[in-house]
Amino acid sequence: MKVGFVYDPIYLEHDTGQHPENAKRLEAIIAHLEMTGLKQQLTPIKPRAASMEELLSVHDEHHISQIRDVAQKGGGYLDADTVMSSGSYEAALYAAGGVIRAAEAVINEEVDSAFALVRPPGHHAIYERAMGFCLFNNIAVATKYALTNYKLERILIVDFDVHHGNGTQATFYDNPHVLYISTHEYPFYPGTGSIEETGNGTAEGTTINIPLPAGSGDTEYQEVFEQIIVPATMRFKPQLIMVSAGYDTHWADQLALMQVSVTGSAQIVKVIRGLADELCNGRLVFSLEGGYNLRVLAASIKATFEMLLGNTTIEDPLGQSPPRFEEPSIASLIRKIKEIHNLA
Ligand SMILES: [Zn+2]
Repeated sequence: MKVGFVYDPIYLEHDTGQHPENAKRLEAIIAHLEMTGLKQQLTPIKPRAASMEELLSVHDEHHISQIRDVAQKGGGYLDADTVMSSGSYEAALYAAGGVIRAAEAVINEEVDSAFALVRPPGHHAIYERAMGFCLFNNIAVATKYALTNYKLERILIVDFDVHHGNGTQATFYDNPHVLYISTHEYPFYPGTGSIEETGNGTAEGTTINIPLPAGSGDTEYQEVFEQIIVPATMRFKPQLIMVSAGYDTHWADQLALMQVSVTGSAQIVKVIRGLADELCNGRLVFSLEGGYNLRVLAASIKATFEMLLGNTTIEDPLGQSPPRFEEPSIASLIRKIKEIHNLA
């Protein structure tokens, strides 16, 4: 198995100071991959900057020039929780371009699968503005790129970040060529992602939201993957699977209230990989979104790579969640979603 990873120190130039989404995240990931010797088993992929045309496939021109202008002026806050520095525009261009390169490398069979270790993250960024730590919607830009340049007709985006990927959903809400499936804590930031949001017009049914109650853990995630995500993916038959990979579902992550373990998230990766192997020649591209506990992030990403490499053992230094919440019941939620999406 040839597994690629995209990384470049330019991603550290998006300097957010003490913000939870800071450069230490990628530093911790890379240090851990080096320390454990896993990095040598991976194929490096050099990112490039996304072109203006590529960004314009997802974003408004005014939004792009605003990000450039704020960087030129030395940075600042774009909204209450999204901050930029002078290096953020370049880093954001390379984040979107990094996911493009990962997709290209997988489609051209330079590697079997790839993980773009980029920042700033992307899935909250919408057409006309930055949001929720995200400047440009990296996965949306790369998905548009793959649709256009490789004439693909069916791409699946799985978004297992704890937050709903409102920007990604909005980008493809009218597009029947992209199936967007999100698991997320709900109700929670950014407020979107109810089961009734299912796509529009000819794209009706190509958005599947799985809003989970706080306290959901490995069992609940495994359940929704088996009951909803696997059958929906089998029916859609994607030619490429893109993943918005957020590790803020972990029980030790401070930004949300889920109870997933490193082992549990590796299990999710295994299921997604199984789908890619079965349906699209293993073509699988991961893009980093959230995850704010550095130990969790480093261990989870290593475990993700282990699954992509086909290794069966993973390390879970943090173990299972200490009992914090009662296990929520999600049986009726699953039933409703299956009904809405005609999944037997
Ligand atoms: Zn998140």
